Amino acid sequence: MSTQSTTPKSVIIVGGSLAGLMHALIFLSLPSPPKVRILERSPTALLHDQGAGVVAGNETQEFFAKYVRPGRDIAVTSPMRHYLNRMGDVMPETVKHQAQRMTSWDLLYHLLRWRIEGRESGHTQGLEADDRPKAQYDNGCTVTGVAEDPDGIRLTWTQDGEHSAIADLVIAADGASSTIRRLVAPAVERNSQSSFMDAKVLLVGDALAGFRPHTAASTGQAAFDALTLGQWMTGENTKEKYDEKVLEFAQRLQHHGVVLGERSQFGRHPFNG
Ligand SMILES: Cc1cc2nc3c(=O)[nH]c(=O)nc-3n(C[C@H](O)[C@H](O)[C@H](O)COP(=O)(O)OP(=O)(O)OC[C@H]3O[C@@H](n4cnc5c(N)ncnc54)[C@H](O)[C@@H]3O)c2cc1C
Repeated sequence: MSTQSTTPKSVIIVGGSLAGLMHALIFLSLPSPPKVRILERSPTALLHDQGAGVVAGNETQEFFAKYVRPGRDIAVTSPMRHYLNRMGDVMPETVKHQAQRMTSWDLLYHLLRWRIEGRESGHTQGLEADDRPKAQYDNGCTVTGVAEDPDGIRLTWTQDGEHSAIADLVIAADGASSTIRRLVAPAVERNSQSSFMDAKVLLVGDALAGFRPHTAASTGQAAFDALTLGQWMTGENTKEKYDEKVLEFAQRLQHHGVVLGERSQFGRHPFNG
């Protein structure tokens, strides 16, 4: 796919968690949608949350309103933040009245699986389907190789044996320890490059940048990357602008994580007075 053409005919997405699903939905929402296939390593049909809530930041809310269209609120408002001491009591001096929208990983995940595959669950009752095409979601596929091919990008994976397929575009949404990133960019510093192999392989979400300590922004990054891809695919932005925006977001959030870490480890913090 050249940097100018906007719509690939076939897309394979590596990783079927939030970033992979959000990117799948971007393609399925295009006027001439490509064939979309998702390869997910987990052998079970459904992934489960890690028991942590998710901050529903602006990007996440915008993505769900624009692309998932659940027809209802996906978040609740948490009116304040505070710290607990070792006894589990609220430390009054740490109470900060700052509203924040919160949601759950499970809700986002099930809404996305419903939109891209029509998979129903307790989270999707009463929601209205639309006529966007569906993606193929394959579990138990561990991607092990990526290479340029005269017809596009060839991916290889294991699933009771070795398999391969070619796509015009590969989206690497395989998380913080991304295999694709290791294969295409072993020497490239994280956050510094988002597209490879003549813009036919894109790193997105945690595969592009992970924030440590946890800044509660990873889902927001997945949504931001997907929204920005949508702008490129619809011609609203150029490929160059896409790269610039996703890298700027990743670097800004990564810096924020470092500042938080410095403060909590070495600076003045509610825990250490
Ligand atoms: C099962 C699960 C539950 C989570 N629960 C929470 C939560 O409750 N709260 C929270 O804040 N965050 C949670 N997260 C993390 C959160 O999803 C991410 O930090 C963020 O949303 C960015 O998502 P991502 O899709 O980029 O990465 P991830 O969510 O890490 O997804 C990466 C996906 O790629 C797959 N994968 C990795 N390598 C390969 C490979 N070689 N071939 C094929 N597939 C591969 C993984 O199995 C995984 O499904 C969870 C992640 C997972 C995978």
